[in-house]
Amino acid sequence: KKRIFSGVQPSGNLTIGNYLGAIKNWIPLQEEYECLYCVVDLHTLTVRQKPAELRQRSLNLLALYMACGLDPKKSILFLQSHVSAHSELAWILNCFTYMGELNRMTQFKDKSQRHGDNINAGLFTYPVLMAADILLYQADLVPIGQDQKQHLEITRDVADRFNNIYGDTFTIPEAFIPKIGAKIMSLQEPEKKMSKSDENENAFVLILDPQDAVMRKFKRAITDSDREIRYDEQNKPGVSNLISIYSSVTGKSISDIEKEFEGRSYGDLKETVGQSVVEMLNPIQQRFNEFSSDKEQLNLILKENAEKAAYMARKTLSKVQRKIGLLPRG
Ligand code: ATP
Ligand code: MG
Repeated sequence: KKRIFSGVQPSGNLTIGNYLGAIKNWIPLQEEYECLYCVVDLHTLTVRQKPAELRQRSLNLLALYMACGLDPKKSILFLQSHVSAHSELAWILNCFTYMGELNRMTQFKDKSQRHGDNINAGLFTYPVLMAADILLYQADLVPIGQDQKQHLEITRDVADRFNNIYGDTFTIPEAFIPKIGAKIMSLQEPEKKMSKSDENENAFVLILDPQDAVMRKFKRAITDSDREIRYDEQNKPGVSNLISIYSSVTGKSISDIEKEFEGRSYGDLKETVGQSVVEMLNPIQQRFNEFSSDKEQLNLILKENAEKAAYMARKTLSKVQRKIGLLPRG
C-alpha cells in the first residue's frame, strides 16, 4: 500500500484555504492508502505562541480533522510533538541541507518580513523539519497546497542527497496538488494567499465562521472596477479567486461558472459563492461541536495514534542512525 503524509499547523483557526487546498483532498485517500495526518505543532513554534492557546488549538485541530471526515480508524491522526523522532531526524537532516537552498524559500522571505522582530533559526530551517515529517514515514505522496511545493522539492533533494551517499534509505515523495483550490487567495488582497495568520480578519473565511460572518466577508471581498465576471488571474485576481472558490466548492468547471454569471453583477456572484460556502461548512461545524466537546476521547485517540506513528518512525530513524555511524544503544 502506498503511504500518504500531510499536516496542518495549529497556528490559528483554519481557513477555507486549508480545507479546499489540503484537508478536503485527504478524505478520499483514506480508502486506498495508508494515511498519516499530523497536527504539526512543533512548526508553530517559529512564531511566539501562548501556551494555553496552543494546547487548545492542537486538540481542536484534531476535532476539526475528524469533523472534515478524517477517521481515526482508517488513518493515523496524531500530534507531531508526541513522536520525538521528528525532532531527532530534523537535526540530522539539518546537516544535509545547504544554507543556499534554504535561502531561496519564499515562505521564509514572506514570514521574516511579517515577523521582523523574531526571525529565529527555526523559521529558517522550517523546511528541514517538514522534510523529516515526511521522510520518517517513507511517504509516497504528500497532499499539499501550492504554497508548499517549494518545501516538498527541498525534501526530495535532501532525501536524494542522503540516498546517494548512504544507499537507499528514504522513499522520494511526490507532491499531490489539487487542480482547483490549490491556492485560495486573500479576500482583501487577492495577490496574496489566504492565510490563517493574517491580521486582517476580513481577508480569510474560517471553517468555523458562523453563517453571517461568512456572508459578510464575501460581500466585502475586493473585486475590481469593471463589471465582467470572467476568470483572469492577472487582470482580475479578486473575481478569479471567487470563481475558483465556487468551482472548488461545487465541482462546476470555470467555463460553466462564467456562463452561469454572464450579464450578472459582482454582488450576485459574492452572494452565490458565500451561500455555497455556508452550505459546505454547515455539516462540518455541527460535527466539530460534537467531537470537540469530548476531550477525553480526543486525548485517547492522540495517545493510541502516537504509538502507531512512533513505531513506524522509529524504524526509519534507526536505519538512518546506523547508516551515518551513530552507535546503537546496546
Ligand atoms: P500559516 O499562516 O500559519 O502558515 P497556513 O494557512 O499557511 O498558516 P499551514 O498550516 O501552513 O496553513 O498549511 C496547511 C496546509 O494548507 C498546507 O498543505 C498548505 O499548502 C495549505 N494551504 C494553506 N493556505 C492555503 C491556501 N490559501 N490555499 C490552498 N491551500 C492552502
Ligand atoms: Mg503556511
